[in-house]
Amino acid sequence: MSPKDTPEPGNGAGPVVETQAVIIGAGPVGLFAVFELGLADIEAHLIDILDKPGGQCAELYPEKPIYDIPGLPVVSGQELTVRLLEQIKPFNPTFHLNQRVEALERCEDGRWRLVTDIGQEFLTTVVVVAAGGGSFTPKRPPLEGIEDFEGKSVFYSVRRIEDFRDRNILIIGGGDSALDWTLSLQPVAKSIALLHRRDKFRASPDSVKKMLELTEAGKLNFVLGQAMELHGSEGALEAVTVRGQDGETFRHACDTVLPFFGLTMKLGPVADWGLNLHENLIPVDTEKFETSEKGVFAIGDINQYPGKLKLILCGFHEAALMAQQAHKYIYPDKELRFEYTTSSSNLQKKLGVK
Ligand SMILES: Cc1cc2nc3c(=O)[nH]c(=O)nc-3n(C[C@H](O)[C@H](O)[C@H](O)COP(=O)(O)OP(=O)(O)OC[C@H]3O[C@@H](n4cnc5c(N)ncnc54)[C@H](O)[C@@H]3O)c2cc1C
Repeated sequence: MSPKDTPEPGNGAGPVVETQAVIIGAGPVGLFAVFELGLADIEAHLIDILDKPGGQCAELYPEKPIYDIPGLPVVSGQELTVRLLEQIKPFNPTFHLNQRVEALERCEDGRWRLVTDIGQEFLTTVVVVAAGGGSFTPKRPPLEGIEDFEGKSVFYSVRRIEDFRDRNILIIGGGDSALDWTLSLQPVAKSIALLHRRDKFRASPDSVKKMLELTEAGKLNFVLGQAMELHGSEGALEAVTVRGQDGETFRHACDTVLPFFGLTMKLGPVADWGLNLHENLIPVDTEKFETSEKGVFAIGDINQYPGKLKLILCGFHEAALMAQQAHKYIYPDKELRFEYTTSSSNLQKKLGVK
């Protein structure tokens, strides 16, 4: 990914983004939509709650082989993501990662206004909902009263590393997120501990090695056990009761907890945007893949129409037809000529190959 695409943990809301198209969801179908919109001279911004592009392919099955992508007899979820990112490079899309689109409403001038959970606003002519099975949502650990601490001393993601400076942090989990954030926050934390129920990890061996080296050097504390109870008041955490491997419980003093227990997919705010829904999916026509609202399209796993198959290749086809109609909204006075990438010097120029 280019520096422009790389999410900066800590990106806060910036000035309002005014653009031609906003794509909600950077899964495989959202990514390919950038390509089809790009060929139609439409600039796109992508928003995803995840910290990386690729949707289900990157989050749920990065190493599993996919056998039904045309022209690629076998490709892993992660490799497909990398290839799509490569393919859309000429169109230089802007990624807004770690952000969930909360609100979508029509403005008086006919454009659409979107607002994310960090308050970032977008004004756009076209909206492409490529939200798949919904937004990935962190799993909440089964700790009584944890909701009272959320957003104050319990966090499921890190947006600004600086917010964690001089805190006494307990990270819970044994996957890549737990290990990566332990290593990233260690230099700014006042103290940091990693709590995991066993000494085997589902994380990259390199991260595990670095974590163990820091533990050896006394710069972080690796605790074997399970979190049982949170202590504190009014959202301010003071300690966590931990049950160690020997069954004994003890209090671990800390003011911040970051649990990384994996993610589940929930429809989330899509249900509140005033779009017609059918069994939590967005009905569309099969000519333009437009929703009940003009200028708002739905492609990929999130949409529904007779004969719909939740396959990546179907989402790619939907993206191509969506872009034809999107062009009519963005350039009402211009006709979009049908051309092949193999023979059109116009398209090849856009792709940077001519
Ligand atoms: C184990 C497994 C194996 C599979 N194998 C195959 C296969 O072999 N072949 C095949 O064709 N398909 C396969 N699929 C299905 C395929 O992965 C999906 O069809 C595909 O991922 C759909 O792409 P998408 O872009 O529509 O949605 P997704 O990949 O679900 O991406 C949607 C993105 O939108 C984001 N999002 C949603 N709501 C919001 C919001 N409000 N704000 C910000 N972001 C939001 C989500 O975080 C997510 O990243 C498989 C699926 C699984 C789980």
